[in-house]
Amino acid sequence: MIENTEAVDIAIVGAGPLGMALALALERGPSIALIDSRARGAWADDPRALALAHGSRQLLERLGAWNSEAATLIREIHVSQRGGFGRTRIAADDYGTPALGYVMRYRDLADALAARVPAASLFAPCSVEAIETGEESATLTLAHEGATRSLRAKLVVHAEGMPAAGPEVRVRDYQQQAIVAEVRTRLPHGHRAWERFTPDGPLALLPLGESYAVVFTVPSDKAASLLALGDDDFLATLQAQFGKRLEFVASGPRASFPLTLRLRAQLTGPRQVWIGNSAQTLHPVSGQGFNLGLRDAWQLAAGLLDRPDPGAPATLAGYARGRRIDRRGSVAFTDSLVRIFSNDLPPLRVARGLGLLAVDLCPPLRHFVARRMIWGARAWL
Ligand SMILES: Cc1cc2nc3c(=O)[nH]c(=O)nc-3n(C[C@H](O)[C@H](O)[C@H](O)COP(=O)(O)OP(=O)(O)OC[C@H]3O[C@@H](n4cnc5c(N)ncnc54)[C@H](O)[C@@H]3O)c2cc1C
Repeated sequence: MIENTEAVDIAIVGAGPLGMALALALERGPSIALIDSRARGAWADDPRALALAHGSRQLLERLGAWNSEAATLIREIHVSQRGGFGRTRIAADDYGTPALGYVMRYRDLADALAARVPAASLFAPCSVEAIETGEESATLTLAHEGATRSLRAKLVVHAEGMPAAGPEVRVRDYQQQAIVAEVRTRLPHGHRAWERFTPDGPLALLPLGESYAVVFTVPSDKAASLLALGDDDFLATLQAQFGKRLEFVASGPRASFPLTLRLRAQLTGPRQVWIGNSAQTLHPVSGQGFNLGLRDAWQLAAGLLDRPDPGAPATLAGYARGRRIDRRGSVAFTDSLVRIFSNDLPPLRVARGLGLLAVDLCPPLRHFVARRMIWGARAWL
């Protein structure tokens, strides 16, 4: 039995980092319901660390959700390939900014956002049983606190993370998994991040506190054995893959994530819009997913504030148009990095080396890559 029907302007389905960021960006505007299938704090054991662009820090600061104590600065990025020549070095000093970016655990980021979200707007844990869309509004059927209730909204924003495959969602399975862990090195990291391309996939080391957060990409069939290794054997494998520039001495627990590209064909539908991972789930190479999704949330909020009907077709069409370049650019950037670098064909190895050298020696190219790290797409829009 449906107990009652409530009405809000906007229902956000998925109260992960981006659903929460959107709710905060809309704080002084429309009425909101923020719905998540998991209880609050369920992210406490999420093992991910995220590289956040300097531009993301600025947006999080405006949302009052920047936790500087949980953030480690990236002052320099070193990019190279295993078994080939060429390398690129990008330093914050060259761009007059205190940092190229920051590294933060997913759970610290989620905690900082959750601390600002008003409890009154939250439905969690709560499952969305059905969504029916009409001309003027959408109706969500919710199972919440043992009851079925109905919620009417002028707009439903989907922020529930990686979408299931289906006719609306294009999937490219990279046949890779990311093994994540926090590791210690003999010498301090000096705020330098490393991106090392190997035939197995990219290997990233991000400075985090006194450690490095490792994102070790491997073909899917190697992932289980890597997870099963004892710490010493894991460190030896990591050392062999990374090379001798750092000496790894201790490792924390490991976890793995399967890697696919999932792209929703349309960002909007009648009375609905998709943001963040629910719109595009990217390979983690070069740390674009959250940063891009935060720009989704920010731009959507800017377009919705002060609109009497946030789900009006013209408003949604304007949003989809406005996100096109940033979205396409970020997808193309990550997808081509994975495809160009995750193989061992000798001609490509030479071409990659020349590419890395070119980026290093040619200031405009280096600035292009640096701006993407610092600002995302804003610098060339
Ligand atoms: C290994 C790894 C490393 C990464 N590194 C970086 C990085 O360095 N930089 C970067 O920018 N990005 C990185 N990313 C990407 C980043 O994690 C995501 O882009 C980001 O988490 C997306 O946030 P989201 O809120 O859209 O989705 P999620 O974080 O997936 O949150 C979705 C929320 O929706 C809820 N939910 C799910 N289904 C439902 C449902 N049916 N109904 C209601 N609620 C639901 C979930 O409980 C969750 O709270 C990385 C990803 C991985 C896997």
